[in-house]
Amino acid sequence: MERISHFIGGRTVSSISGRRGPVYNPATGVQTHEVDFASPQEVQAAVSAAREAFPTWRATSLSRRAEILFSVRAALDAHRREIAELTTAQHGKVLSDAMGEVARGLENVEFACGIPHLLKGSYSEQASTGIDVYSMRQPLGVVAGISPFNFPAMVPMWMFANAIACGNTFVLKPSEKDPSPSLLMAQLLSEAGVPDGVFNVVQGDKVAVDALLASEDVKAVSFVGSTPVARSIHETANRAGKRVQALAGAKNHMVVLPDADLDMAADAAVSAGYGSAGERCMAISVVVAVGSVGDDLVAAIKRRMPKVRIGDGRDPLSEMGPLITSEHRDRVASYIDSGHRQGAQVVVDGRADPVTSRPGFFLGVSLLDHVTPEMDCYRDEIFGPVLSVVRVETYEEAVHLINENRWGNGTAIFTRDGGAARRFQFDVEAGMVGINVPIPVPVGYYSFGGWKQSLFGDTHMYGPEGINFYTRGKVVTSRWPDPATSSVDLGFPRTR
Ligand code: NAD
Repeated sequence: MERISHFIGGRTVSSISGRRGPVYNPATGVQTHEVDFASPQEVQAAVSAAREAFPTWRATSLSRRAEILFSVRAALDAHRREIAELTTAQHGKVLSDAMGEVARGLENVEFACGIPHLLKGSYSEQASTGIDVYSMRQPLGVVAGISPFNFPAMVPMWMFANAIACGNTFVLKPSEKDPSPSLLMAQLLSEAGVPDGVFNVVQGDKVAVDALLASEDVKAVSFVGSTPVARSIHETANRAGKRVQALAGAKNHMVVLPDADLDMAADAAVSAGYGSAGERCMAISVVVAVGSVGDDLVAAIKRRMPKVRIGDGRDPLSEMGPLITSEHRDRVASYIDSGHRQGAQVVVDGRADPVTSRPGFFLGVSLLDHVTPEMDCYRDEIFGPVLSVVRVETYEEAVHLINENRWGNGTAIFTRDGGAARRFQFDVEAGMVGINVPIPVPVGYYSFGGWKQSLFGDTHMYGPEGINFYTRGKVVTSRWPDPATSSVDLGFPRTR
C-alpha cells in the first residue's frame, strides 16, 4: 500500500512513529493509501525546521518574497489539474468542483503576491518638533495551520499564502482523510523557490495537533474544522498564549421572500444544498420559505432533484460525488430518519436513490419540508446532501430564526426588493451575506469568517485580516536632532 508522508525541511520524510491511517477513494470505497501519523517528536522536527528557516526568510527582501510568490502562483497554476485530481481521488468531489476549489485557493496566492504593498506602514513626519513616528508590521515566527477534509487544497492556501508572504514559516497539518494535495503543493512550493523549512507538512491526527499546540516555538494557530474541535483548539492555544483563529461549523440559511424569482431561488437551493454533496461550510442547509412561497418553492426544488447526476467525480458527467466515509454517510442518512420521526415531511429520501447500491460512500439527495427548530435535522450540522425547508409567515420571523441559531457563517436572501435586501444585510447575524447569491464566499481581497459558533477568535481568515493575523504591529518614534538642540528634560514626553 502506497504511503503518504511528511514534508519537512524541503524533503519528503517517512514517519517512524508506527502509527498510520487509511485513505480511501470514496467513490469506490476502496482504500488506496496509508497516511503516516506524526509522533510529537516528528512534529517538533517540522517545527524546528521552520524555526531555523525563520531568521533568513524574515530578512528576505519584500521584492524577493513577492518574486517567489509569483513563482508559487505559476507552479500551482500549472498543476491545477493534478491538485484537483488528487482532491477528487481522496475527497470524492467532482473534478469540476475540485478545479473550482483550486481556483478559489489561488486567489489567496494572487493576493499574497502583493505583499510589498500589503505590509506598507504609515509615517507621520514632524509628529512633534523634530520627531517622526512610523508603523510597520512584522512576522510572528513559526505559525501552524490545521485544515479540514472538505477543502484539502483551498483551505491550506487560505492560510499559507499570507503566512509565508508576511515572512513567517509554516507547519501545516492537513486532514488525514485526504492528505495528498497538501504534499503535492509542498513539493511545488519547494520547486518554485520557497526555501527549505519555510513550508512544512506533518500528517496525522489529534496527536500531531496537540504537539503543535504544545510547542513553545509555534506562535500562532489557524484552524478550520468542526465546532467542538475549534472550540477546544481555541481554548488550548489561548491558554498557551498563542494567537489563534478557529473557523468552525455552520448552518447556513437561505431566505426566499414571496417576490423572489422562484426558478432562480430553486436553482440556487439545489446548487448550494447538494454541490460537493453538501460537504461545504458555506453549503445552504436550510431554506426559509417566507409567506406564500412555500408550496411552489418546494415543488420547484423537488422537480430539479432527479436531474442531479450523482457518480464518480472522475466521470465528467457527474455533478455530485460520494460522501467522505461510510460512517459519515450513515450519520447524514440518520437525519432523514430522525427528521421523519420528529414530524418533518420527507419529500425526497436520498436513501432510496439507486446510487446507494454502488460500492462507494454514496447517498442520494434528500429534501425535508416543514422542519422546525426543535428537530435534530435543524439543530445539528448535517454536512451532507440533506436540505431542510422551514416555513415562516414573515420576514421578521425569518431573521429571528437565523439570529437565534447558534451558528452564523453564511446566509443568503433571495428577493427582487432592494430595500428588503438592504434591511437583511443590516439585521442578520452572520459573517457572510449573499443577496441573490447562495454561497457568498468572499473574494481573496476580502476576508472569510463567520459569527457566533462559526468562529472562535477575533480575526477572520485570508485577505486583509489574514495579513493582520500573521503579523504584529510595531510603532517607531524617532528623532534625528540637530545636536545643538539636545538638552536634559525629565518630564513625560509630550508633543511640542
Ligand atoms: P474536524 O474538526 O473533524 O477536523 C479538522 C482538523 O482537525 C483535521 O485536520 C483533523 O485531523 C483535526 N482534528 C480532528 N479531531 C481533532 C481533535 N479531537 N483534536 C485535534 N485535532 C483534531 O473537521 P472535518 O470533518 O475535517 O471538516 C468538516 C468540518 O469543518 C465541518 O464542521 C465544517 O463546517 C467545518 N468547516 C468550516 C469552515 C469554515 O470556514 N468555517 C470551512 C471548512 C470546513
